[in-house]
Amino acid sequence: MDLSYSPEEQAFRQEVRSFLSENLPPEMSDAVREGRGLGKEGHERWHAILNAQGWLAPNWPLEFGGCGWNAVQRHIFEDECCQAFAPRIVPFGLTMLAPVLQKFGSQEQKDHYLPRILSGEDWWCQGYSEPGAGSDLASLKTKAVRDGDHYVVNGQKTWTTLGQHANWIFCLVRTDSSVKQQAGISFLLIDMDTPGIEVRPIILLDGAHEVNEVWFTDVRVPVENLVGEENQGWTYAKFLLTHERTNIAGVGFSQAGLAAVKRLAAAEQHRGRPLIENPHFAARVAQAEIDLMAMSTTNLRIISAAAGGQAPGVESSMLKVKGTQIRQEINDLARRAAGVYAMPFASEGVAGGNEPPIGPEGTAPVAAQYFNNRKLSIFGGSNEIQRNIIAKVKLGGGA
Ligand SMILES: Cc1cc2nc3c(=O)[nH]c(=O)nc-3n(C[C@H](O)[C@H](O)[C@H](O)COP(=O)(O)OP(=O)(O)OC[C@H]3O[C@@H](n4cnc5c(N)ncnc54)[C@H](O)[C@@H]3O)c2cc1C
Repeated sequence: MDLSYSPEEQAFRQEVRSFLSENLPPEMSDAVREGRGLGKEGHERWHAILNAQGWLAPNWPLEFGGCGWNAVQRHIFEDECCQAFAPRIVPFGLTMLAPVLQKFGSQEQKDHYLPRILSGEDWWCQGYSEPGAGSDLASLKTKAVRDGDHYVVNGQKTWTTLGQHANWIFCLVRTDSSVKQQAGISFLLIDMDTPGIEVRPIILLDGAHEVNEVWFTDVRVPVENLVGEENQGWTYAKFLLTHERTNIAGVGFSQAGLAAVKRLAAAEQHRGRPLIENPHFAARVAQAEIDLMAMSTTNLRIISAAAGGQAPGVESSMLKVKGTQIRQEINDLARRAAGVYAMPFASEGVAGGNEPPIGPEGTAPVAAQYFNNRKLSIFGGSNEIQRNIIAKVKLGGGA
């Protein structure tokens, strides 16, 4: 297996780098570097810039307006975006729903929704989890009952990321309670403006409004908003999850985070010496760097195999566990390096208020990032669930 980049791939990297240096607004990369939120308008602006370049949908086939890039090109693009502190593209429409519509949607659904995802007219959110149905997703209870040309939906979704900005939600709903759990689930597209929908904020540990509860009371959804066949939603849901878990290793985020830790620890003093010279701290930084280099190589091996046509299997669970452990360790190192300056984590410092930051450069968002990134080992399938998958496949008991 050849893990070096070909001349064409290196030229592609250069092209991406030039594009980012010319088109990524500095105020946006500053906001990302400093851990400040971009807000809805910021996300929409970056979405539009990438769409104008034709680089918004790296994972879509050309026929639907995607880039048609292979796995190595996608990796290079993501890597360069992380290094340049480009905003993360909101994934729910582009990388989660779109592949489901492309594979299982009706022609009308493809023609209607896919162009609107590219243009940014629709902002999608994901209505999978419920109280009591997270890891055990198949036990979901939100009900959809057929009434003429409509389904009538009642129930509650939770942890709905950025649902406060969304005008559409894709939902898993129960359409048959009399069969095995997985066999009674359907996949519905629901307009958030429909009467009977209420979005309630959940404030996370960092003080940010990132997730929500979404309540449905007698919400009438036209039957043409059903994706695929009734009661086949579990198949589409699982297919979507394989797309949710792309770029799972987060190598670029960790590289940027580790560089920031080193800068901070070189500037901060510990007993009269730069913190980075403290043997205990330096050993932890070195261990994180070694782990990151090892994971980066594993990631490249998997990408190289994927470019050769092999679908990643249990490897994505391994990358999820290791990648999130490394990112959380880097967050902890940053928190320790910031010392007392991590304590205030004034939301104004993070969200871009008028007050100047209290501590040295780079310390304002450290605590908020530390708390916010506790989520990494929970969402997208918790790390315990990933370990169960690895154990089943590697220690026996089937996939
Ligand atoms: C910040 C954030 C954003 C999210 N965004 C969305 C979103 O936009 N849309 C959406 O639908 N969902 C979203 N989620 C939900 C996410 O997918 C679930 O939180 C996740 O699947 C875990 O489910 P749960 O929270 O119900 O925890 P539970 O499933 O109740 O798990 C609780 C604990 O028990 C462990 N556990 C559970 N089962 C097992 C087992 N069989 N073996 C070993 N350990 C086990 C888990 O690992 C966890 O530590 C989000 C979550 C977070 C934190």
